Amino acid sequence: MNVKIRLTRPENIARHGAGPVELPIEEYLCGVVPAEVYESSAMDALKAQAIAARTFVLKRLLAGTIIDDTTAFQAYKADLATSCPRSRQAVLETVGQVLWYTGGVIDCFYSSSNGGMTKRSGDVWSRHYPYYVNNPDPWDVAANAEKPTKAGHGVGMSQVGAMWAARNGTPCNDILAFYYDGAAILSDYGKGDAVGFPEGGSKLNLKKLIFVNNACYKAGRTIAVKGIMVHSTGANNPNLKRYVGPDDGLLGQNQYGNHWNQDKPGGRQVCVHGFIGKLADSSVATYQTLPWNHRGWHGGSGAKGSVNDTHISFEICEDALTDAAYFRRVFNEAVALCVHLCKMYNLDPMKDGVIIGHYEGYKRGLASNHADPGHWFGRHGESMDSFRSAVKKGMDGSAPAPVPEPAPVPSEYYRVRTLWADSKTQKGAYKILANAKKCADDNPGYSVFDAKGVLVYTGKNTTAPVFAPYTVKVTADSLNIRKGPGTDTAIVGAIKDKGVYTIVEEAGGPGAARWGKLKSGAGWISLDYTQKR
Ligand SMILES: [Zn+2]
Repeated sequence: MNVKIRLTRPENIARHGAGPVELPIEEYLCGVVPAEVYESSAMDALKAQAIAARTFVLKRLLAGTIIDDTTAFQAYKADLATSCPRSRQAVLETVGQVLWYTGGVIDCFYSSSNGGMTKRSGDVWSRHYPYYVNNPDPWDVAANAEKPTKAGHGVGMSQVGAMWAARNGTPCNDILAFYYDGAAILSDYGKGDAVGFPEGGSKLNLKKLIFVNNACYKAGRTIAVKGIMVHSTGANNPNLKRYVGPDDGLLGQNQYGNHWNQDKPGGRQVCVHGFIGKLADSSVATYQTLPWNHRGWHGGSGAKGSVNDTHISFEICEDALTDAAYFRRVFNEAVALCVHLCKMYNLDPMKDGVIIGHYEGYKRGLASNHADPGHWFGRHGESMDSFRSAVKKGMDGSAPAPVPEPAPVPSEYYRVRTLWADSKTQKGAYKILANAKKCADDNPGYSVFDAKGVLVYTGKNTTAPVFAPYTVKVTADSLNIRKGPGTDTAIVGAIKDKGVYTIVEEAGGPGAARWGKLKSGAGWISLDYTQKR
């Protein structure tokens, strides 16, 4: 495959002669990657740049566009193609790999920096593509903190963000998955298999918070899993914290405390096996909320029995049903979850009655009369049929053997903070422990916590133990106990004995200089009305 380039740079003309030149695409890329990012960048940044640049030029090549060697398209420098071995290695190790999104090569943009937020293309230009979404970009922020870079158009990959992420241990695939939402990497210029992303192009972001307080969980009944029922919530609230709680540091606080991890949420006997929606940082995740083979209370029943006896269930958190980008992210996540579950229970997604929407369960006489999720899927050109096909495709695109045991939880990030409860102090989140440790060492007072908030490393320059429980004497006649660290959370009790209590965690929050968590688990108190002993 050859790329036709109009040359403008004198050094390029000196090498190739004047007039448009045709170069093999991979040879061309060897002169693009080191012209766009530093040859000294971490290998995963060079690979991400190679795949992005290849995708960009392939889209134009397919459209018959003649490109040039300037940044109007992509910078190409012929002399660098031969003098930059690391960039060449990155190109060769990713030969043919391009970014793909439902049926085509993506229109792949990138820029030097995005100013700390990834950009929705429709907000920058007139055209919108679903794989460009607005998201905070902590990598770009971290890179700019080290060395300020003028932001470019900000659509797609931030080159300084990618270089920072790669240097801190983030693999090329994760970098691209972050900047091109819902896209997959395909081999052989889009004609080959999915590579790089698991589950055939969709990333499953699976977490777990079992609803142990829900009466359904307490009922303790199990089922032989025969299928999966897809639900959507029917309420405009895409945030997982509305349904899943208490806050694990990723969900965010539900100030109303009305999540489903209680005996009868809203007085109803309801419980599903999982939820898909937004975390506090707006990224999309799946939370498993019941053991998969537990009997859920999700579909009700019909003339022919109850789907609760046979099917795993999950809810997709609805928004106002108009946001195409959000829909695409949760749709892909739901596909990835079903791929995972079908492998785990050896289910055929195309077999009649295996994967069904709630409304289909009603039609089959196995569930109550609800319209979900058909009313939402249809608005974005999808249906339960296309959903099942996507699950099938996802299964074909990955390892054929069924997974006998629940797959391990995907790798989690190590966070560098002063205290786990003080998320505002976070310096960074790292996949690789060694990198997190280095960050803690570089920042006096900082330590490394695992995904559950367990202290795993105290920085070299952090002298005091990060947190040791201590006792306080309450000085107020009546001191409210709150559900969380802040007067914006519910009052769940009061201390009226001016007694001595053990504090096991501290946090900042509205209404007090400092909040302390009671060892009993009863809740949080303002430390302003206590004396440390
Ligand atoms: Zn439903």
